[in-house]
Amino acid sequence: MARTALVTGGTRGIGAAISKQLKADGCNVAATYAGNDDAAKAFTEETGIATYKWNVADYEESAAGIAKVEADLGPIDIVVANAGITKDAPFHKMTPEQWHQVIDTNLTGVFNTVHPVWPGMRERKFGRVIVISSINGQKGQFAQVNYAATKAGDLGIVKSLAQEGARAGITANAVCPGYIATEMVMAVPEKVREAIIGQIPTGRLGEPEEIARCVSFLAADGSGFINGSTISANGGQFFV
Ligand code: NDP
Repeated sequence: MARTALVTGGTRGIGAAISKQLKADGCNVAATYAGNDDAAKAFTEETGIATYKWNVADYEESAAGIAKVEADLGPIDIVVANAGITKDAPFHKMTPEQWHQVIDTNLTGVFNTVHPVWPGMRERKFGRVIVISSINGQKGQFAQVNYAATKAGDLGIVKSLAQEGARAGITANAVCPGYIATEMVMAVPEKVREAIIGQIPTGRLGEPEEIARCVSFLAADGSGFINGSTISANGGQFFV
Protein backbone atom coordinates (compact mmCIF):
# COMPACT_ATOMS: atom_id res chain seq x y z
CA MET A 1 0.00 0.00 0.00
CA ALA A 2 1.40 3.39 -1.00
CA ARG A 3 1.91 5.68 1.98
CA THR A 4 1.16 9.39 1.80
CA ALA A 5 3.94 11.68 2.96
CA LEU A 6 4.00 15.40 3.74
CA VAL A 7 7.37 17.20 3.69
CA THR A 8 7.40 20.82 4.85
CA GLY A 9 10.00 22.92 3.11
CA GLY A 10 10.08 20.04 0.68
CA THR A 11 10.84 22.00 -2.49
CA ARG A 12 14.42 23.08 -1.85
CA GLY A 13 17.60 21.87 -0.13
CA ILE A 14 17.36 18.94 2.26
CA GLY A 15 13.56 18.87 2.00
CA ALA A 16 13.67 18.46 -1.79
CA ALA A 17 16.00 15.49 -1.43
CA ILE A 18 13.64 13.99 1.17
CA SER A 19 10.60 14.50 -1.07
CA LYS A 20 12.36 12.80 -3.98
CA GLN A 21 13.60 9.92 -1.84
CA LEU A 22 10.14 9.25 -0.38
CA LYS A 23 8.67 9.31 -3.88
CA ALA A 24 11.33 6.80 -4.97
CA ASP A 25 10.30 4.70 -1.96
CA GLY A 26 6.79 4.51 -3.43
CA CYS A 27 5.03 7.20 -1.38
CA ASN A 28 2.53 9.78 -2.62
CA VAL A 29 4.35 12.97 -1.65
CA ALA A 30 3.20 16.52 -0.95
CA ALA A 31 5.98 19.11 -0.63
CA THR A 32 5.30 22.49 0.95
CA TYR A 33 7.08 25.81 0.73
CA ALA A 34 6.74 29.35 2.07
CA GLY A 35 7.03 31.79 -0.80
CA ASN A 36 9.58 30.85 -3.46
CA ASP A 37 7.12 30.04 -6.26
CA ASP A 38 9.83 29.76 -8.92
CA ALA A 39 11.71 27.07 -6.98
CA ALA A 40 8.47 25.20 -6.30
CA LYS A 41 7.45 25.33 -9.96
CA ALA A 42 10.86 24.08 -11.10
CA PHE A 43 10.71 21.33 -8.47
CA THR A 44 7.30 20.09 -9.66
CA GLU A 45 8.40 20.20 -13.29
CA GLU A 46 11.47 18.15 -12.43
CA THR A 47 9.85 15.61 -10.11
CA GLY A 48 6.10 15.56 -10.72
CA ILE A 49 5.63 16.04 -6.96
CA ALA A 50 2.67 18.22 -5.92
CA THR A 51 3.56 21.39 -4.03
CA TYR A 52 1.51 23.42 -1.55
CA LYS A 53 2.21 26.89 -0.19
CA TRP A 54 1.66 27.87 3.41
CA ASN A 55 3.53 29.38 6.31
CA VAL A 56 4.30 26.70 8.90
CA ALA A 57 4.43 29.41 11.56
CA ASP A 58 0.66 29.93 11.18
CA TYR A 59 -1.57 27.24 12.72
CA GLU A 60 -4.73 28.04 10.75
CA GLU A 61 -2.84 28.09 7.45
CA SER A 62 -1.13 24.80 8.32
CA ALA A 63 -4.38 23.08 9.29
CA ALA A 64 -6.13 24.29 6.12
CA GLY A 65 -3.16 23.29 3.96
CA ILE A 66 -3.01 19.84 5.51
CA ALA A 67 -6.77 19.37 4.98
CA LYS A 68 -6.24 20.21 1.29
CA VAL A 69 -3.33 17.75 0.99
CA GLU A 70 -5.43 15.00 2.57
CA ALA A 71 -8.36 15.79 0.26
CA ASP A 72 -6.02 15.54 -2.74
CA LEU A 73 -3.74 12.64 -1.78
CA GLY A 74 -5.44 10.82 1.09
CA PRO A 75 -4.65 10.61 4.81
CA ILE A 76 -1.09 11.52 5.74
CA ASP A 77 0.91 8.54 7.07
CA ILE A 78 4.35 10.17 7.16
CA VAL A 79 5.01 13.75 8.20
CA VAL A 80 8.46 15.26 7.86
CA ALA A 81 8.77 18.60 9.69
CA ASN A 82 11.73 19.99 7.80
CA ALA A 83 10.99 23.68 7.12
CA GLY A 84 13.42 25.86 9.00
CA ILE A 85 15.21 29.20 8.92
CA THR A 86 18.16 30.93 10.53
CA LYS A 87 18.37 34.52 11.77
CA ASP A 88 21.84 34.53 13.26
CA ALA A 89 23.32 37.17 15.54
CA PRO A 90 25.53 37.15 18.63
CA PHE A 91 23.26 37.12 21.66
CA HIS A 92 24.01 40.72 22.65
CA LYS A 93 22.88 41.85 19.19
CA MET A 94 20.00 39.43 18.70
CA THR A 95 16.68 41.26 18.41
CA PRO A 96 13.39 39.99 19.83
CA GLU A 97 12.20 39.86 16.22
CA GLN A 98 15.05 37.50 15.24
CA TRP A 99 14.24 35.37 18.28
CA HIS A 100 10.52 35.13 17.53
CA GLN A 101 10.87 34.53 13.78
CA VAL A 102 13.04 31.49 14.37
CA ILE A 103 10.95 30.17 17.28
CA ASP A 104 7.74 30.60 15.27
CA THR A 105 9.08 28.75 12.21
CA ASN A 106 11.38 26.05 13.62
CA LEU A 107 9.63 25.19 16.87
CA THR A 108 5.99 26.29 16.72
CA GLY A 109 6.11 25.27 13.05
CA VAL A 110 6.69 21.68 14.13
CA PHE A 111 3.66 21.82 16.44
CA ASN A 112 1.58 23.37 13.65
CA THR A 113 2.67 20.64 11.21
CA VAL A 114 2.26 17.57 13.40
CA HIS A 115 -0.78 18.56 15.47
CA PRO A 116 -3.32 18.54 12.59
CA VAL A 117 -2.20 15.10 11.34
CA TRP A 118 -1.89 13.48 14.77
CA PRO A 119 -5.59 12.59 15.38
CA GLY A 120 -5.81 10.79 12.03
CA MET A 121 -2.64 8.83 12.72
CA ARG A 122 -4.05 7.79 16.12
CA GLU A 123 -7.31 6.66 14.55
CA ARG A 124 -5.60 4.68 11.80
CA LYS A 125 -3.03 3.24 14.23
CA PHE A 126 -0.09 4.17 12.05
CA GLY A 127 2.17 7.17 11.73
CA ARG A 128 5.74 8.27 11.16
CA VAL A 129 6.72 11.67 12.51
CA ILE A 130 10.21 12.79 11.55
CA VAL A 131 11.61 16.15 12.60
CA ILE A 132 14.72 17.65 11.04
CA SER A 133 16.64 19.11 13.97
CA SER A 134 20.35 20.05 13.78
CA ILE A 135 23.81 19.39 15.15
CA ASN A 136 23.54 22.90 16.58
CA GLY A 137 20.55 21.86 18.67
CA GLN A 138 22.75 19.15 20.17
CA LYS A 139 25.86 21.22 20.87
CA GLY A 140 24.81 24.89 20.68
CA GLN A 141 26.44 27.37 18.31
CA PHE A 142 27.88 30.87 18.47
CA ALA A 143 25.32 33.42 17.18
CA GLN A 144 22.53 30.84 17.12
CA VAL A 145 20.87 31.09 20.54
CA ASN A 146 17.50 31.27 18.78
CA TYR A 147 18.19 28.48 16.28
CA ALA A 148 19.85 26.14 18.80
CA ALA A 149 16.94 26.64 21.21
CA THR A 150 14.46 25.58 18.54
CA LYS A 151 16.47 22.59 17.39
CA ALA A 152 16.99 21.36 20.96
CA GLY A 153 13.27 21.93 21.52
CA ASP A 154 12.49 19.80 18.48
CA LEU A 155 14.27 16.89 20.19
CA GLY A 156 12.04 17.36 23.24
CA ILE A 157 8.97 17.30 21.01
CA VAL A 158 10.06 14.04 19.38
CA LYS A 159 10.87 12.28 22.66
CA SER A 160 7.50 13.27 24.10
CA LEU A 161 5.52 12.34 20.99
CA ALA A 162 7.32 9.00 20.93
CA GLN A 163 5.82 8.19 24.31
CA GLU A 164 2.34 9.47 23.44
CA GLY A 165 2.12 7.76 20.05
CA ALA A 166 3.76 4.42 20.74
CA ARG A 167 0.63 2.44 21.55
CA ALA A 168 -1.16 3.92 18.55
CA GLY A 169 1.48 2.63 16.14
CA ILE A 170 3.05 6.06 15.69
CA THR A 171 6.78 6.65 15.90
CA ALA A 172 8.47 10.02 16.29
CA ASN A 173 12.15 10.45 15.56
CA ALA A 174 14.62 13.19 14.74
CA VAL A 175 17.45 13.59 12.30
CA CYS A 176 20.26 15.95 13.26
CA PRO A 177 22.18 16.95 10.16
CA GLY A 178 25.62 18.46 10.41
CA TYR A 179 26.56 21.01 7.77
CA ILE A 180 24.89 20.17 4.46
CA ALA A 181 25.51 21.82 1.09
CA THR A 182 22.24 23.71 0.69
CA GLU A 183 21.51 27.39 0.05
CA MET A 184 21.26 27.90 3.82
CA VAL A 185 24.93 26.92 4.25
CA MET A 186 26.20 28.23 0.92
CA ALA A 187 24.86 31.67 2.00
CA VAL A 188 27.46 31.98 4.78
CA PRO A 189 30.67 33.81 3.77
CA GLU A 190 33.20 31.55 2.02
CA LYS A 191 35.82 32.07 4.76
CA VAL A 192 33.34 30.95 7.43
CA ARG A 193 32.34 27.96 5.30
CA GLU A 194 35.98 26.91 4.88
CA ALA A 195 36.41 27.12 8.67
CA ILE A 196 33.30 24.96 9.12
CA ILE A 197 34.59 22.32 6.70
CA GLY A 198 37.87 22.33 8.63
CA GLN A 199 35.93 21.09 11.68
CA ILE A 200 34.33 18.15 9.85
CA PRO A 201 36.44 14.98 10.07
CA THR A 202 35.02 13.76 6.75
CA GLY A 203 36.54 16.89 5.18
CA ARG A 204 33.48 18.01 3.24
CA LEU A 205 29.91 19.23 3.64
CA GLY A 206 27.18 16.61 3.66
CA GLU A 207 24.83 16.13 0.73
CA PRO A 208 21.03 16.54 1.08
CA GLU A 209 20.62 12.97 -0.17
CA GLU A 210 22.60 11.72 2.84
CA ILE A 211 19.93 13.18 5.13
CA ALA A 212 17.14 11.84 2.93
CA ARG A 213 18.53 8.32 3.45
CA CYS A 214 18.01 8.70 7.21
CA VAL A 215 14.43 9.88 6.72
CA SER A 216 13.68 7.04 4.33
CA PHE A 217 14.90 4.55 6.93
CA LEU A 218 12.82 6.06 9.74
CA ALA A 219 9.72 6.36 7.53
CA ALA A 220 9.68 2.71 6.53
CA ASP A 221 6.91 0.42 7.76
CA GLY A 222 9.63 -1.87 9.14
CA SER A 223 11.05 0.83 11.45
CA GLY A 224 8.21 0.63 13.98
CA PHE A 225 10.46 -0.22 16.95
CA ILE A 226 12.65 2.84 16.40
CA ASN A 227 10.91 5.50 18.45
CA GLY A 228 12.18 8.64 20.18
CA SER A 229 15.58 8.27 18.51
CA THR A 230 17.92 10.80 17.00
CA ILE A 231 20.05 9.98 13.99
CA SER A 232 23.09 12.24 13.78
CA ALA A 233 24.50 12.61 10.28
CA ASN A 234 27.36 15.05 10.58
CA GLY A 235 30.54 13.58 9.10
CA GLY A 236 31.89 12.71 12.55
CA GLN A 237 31.82 16.31 13.78
CA PHE A 238 29.95 15.70 17.03
CA PHE A 239 29.04 12.64 19.08
CA VAL A 240 26.21 12.71 21.59
P1 NDP B 1 16.68 25.75 2.68
O1 NDP B 1 16.79 27.16 3.09
O2 NDP B 1 17.53 25.24 1.55
O3 NDP B 1 15.14 25.37 2.34
C1 NDP B 1 14.18 25.70 3.29
C2 NDP B 1 12.81 25.20 2.85
O4 NDP B 1 11.89 25.49 3.92
C3 NDP B 1 12.27 25.90 1.63
O5 NDP B 1 11.44 25.00 0.90
C4 NDP B 1 11.45 27.03 2.22
O6 NDP B 1 10.42 27.52 1.36
C5 NDP B 1 10.86 26.33 3.42
N1 NDP B 1 10.43 27.25 4.48
C6 NDP B 1 11.18 28.16 5.16
N2 NDP B 1 10.42 28.84 6.03
C7 NDP B 1 9.15 28.36 5.90
C8 NDP B 1 7.91 28.67 6.49
N3 NDP B 1 7.79 29.63 7.43
N4 NDP B 1 6.81 27.97 6.11
C9 NDP B 1 6.90 27.01 5.16
N5 NDP B 1 8.06 26.66 4.56
C10 NDP B 1 9.16 27.34 4.92
O7 NDP B 1 16.95 24.91 4.02
P2 NDP B 1 17.81 23.58 4.25
O8 NDP B 1 17.44 22.55 3.27
O9 NDP B 1 19.24 23.95 4.41
O10 NDP B 1 17.29 23.16 5.71
C11 NDP B 1 16.20 22.28 5.88
C12 NDP B 1 16.10 21.92 7.37
O11 NDP B 1 17.30 21.28 7.78
C13 NDP B 1 15.91 23.14 8.27
O12 NDP B 1 15.04 22.81 9.33
C14 NDP B 1 17.31 23.39 8.80
O13 NDP B 1 17.29 24.03 10.04
C15 NDP B 1 17.82 21.96 8.91
N6 NDP B 1 19.26 21.86 8.91
C16 NDP B 1 20.00 22.30 7.83
C17 NDP B 1 21.37 22.16 7.85
C18 NDP B 1 22.22 22.58 6.70
O14 NDP B 1 23.46 22.48 6.82
N7 NDP B 1 21.67 23.02 5.59
C19 NDP B 1 22.09 21.61 9.00
C20 NDP B 1 21.21 21.16 10.06
C21 NDP B 1 19.88 21.30 10.01
P3 NDP B 1 10.76 28.62 0.21
O15 NDP B 1 11.47 27.86 -0.89
O16 NDP B 1 9.44 29.14 -0.22
O17 NDP B 1 11.64 29.64 0.84
